Amino acid sequence: MIIQLEKNITAEQRKQLEKKLGDIQYKANDVKTQFADYIVAVGKTDFDIRSIGTMEGIRDIHRVSDPYKLVSKKWKVNDSVIDLGDDVKIGTGEFAIMAGPCSIESEEQIASTIKHLKENGIRIMRGGVYKPRSSPYSFRGLGIDGLKMWHEQAKEAGLKIVTEVMMTEQIDAMMDYVDIFQVGARNSQNFNLLDALGKVDKPVLLKRGISGTIDELLQAAEYIFSNGNEKIMLCERGIRSYEGAYRNCFDVNAIAMLKEKTHLPVIADPSHGIGIRSFVEPVGLAGIMAGADGVIMEVHHTPEKAFSDGQQTLDYGQAHKTYQKFSKTFLLREEMKQI
Ligand code: PEP
Ligand code: MN
Repeated sequence: MIIQLEKNITAEQRKQLEKKLGDIQYKANDVKTQFADYIVAVGKTDFDIRSIGTMEGIRDIHRVSDPYKLVSKKWKVNDSVIDLGDDVKIGTGEFAIMAGPCSIESEEQIASTIKHLKENGIRIMRGGVYKPRSSPYSFRGLGIDGLKMWHEQAKEAGLKIVTEVMMTEQIDAMMDYVDIFQVGARNSQNFNLLDALGKVDKPVLLKRGISGTIDELLQAAEYIFSNGNEKIMLCERGIRSYEGAYRNCFDVNAIAMLKEKTHLPVIADPSHGIGIRSFVEPVGLAGIMAGADGVIMEVHHTPEKAFSDGQQTLDYGQAHKTYQKFSKTFLLREEMKQI
């Protein structure tokens, strides 16, 4: 059960509410976010919800049977919008494209990517400075210095930054230089990291775990929300399957289902979803048709020379065409909602 409290609830009204929850043997969890104060109450006793809903100091009350509650659409039917400022919004019915290299490599590469993105009207640049790599001998990113260098150029160009944070210890240092913290697939259930990201006022792009279920992804998001941060986006980036013909199995089903189960924006990552350059476009198009609010994809001036994930990275010419097809497909999908 989710109880949204009035901002001006009195101590006495709160006490009454806590007593009532105690009487029906519900455990009350206080949640205070940037937007509202809630009590998430968990219990099994059958009771008349009106007996709480009519109490003083309560704005709203909903019974949510899902294991995830605050991220559930059963509670909040209107989709959430992530506002990055400067007129960059995700989940408003406007389509968001986040593009850039897998890894931030150099000052020149940043400049070249920014030029390409600006020419294509893209407002959000992706890139990794802390790279989770299967082998410890692979390139692991430029770290905080790379992020600062990137931020300087991105800010000047009016671009927003989405980049992966791998450890709680990195959050403070990264804070002023990122617009969206990405939680990578390998950290999707790093509950300490999720707790910590719930305590900052910065949007989070939470990727689905390598073998994560939809329920696990939603409960991971619930960790962030219940710690106080409502600004969450979910990302389908493919799951591991028995199929060896491609890197991951991009789960279109998950996008359609997530759009039904949660009010959070859902982003498709076709680059990691299939892992093969020539299929990034069709897979991305499928993700959009299934309901994605945006796409995150890898581009590089010379993909063959990229420090990581070159095989799934588009060059600027290919990306230019793909962005157009993505945007048009999104409009077509929105139009089809009228039928
Ligand atoms: C990435 O975005 O470059 C990345 C490492 O993604 P994932 O966590 O989905 O593998
Ligand atoms: Mn990558």
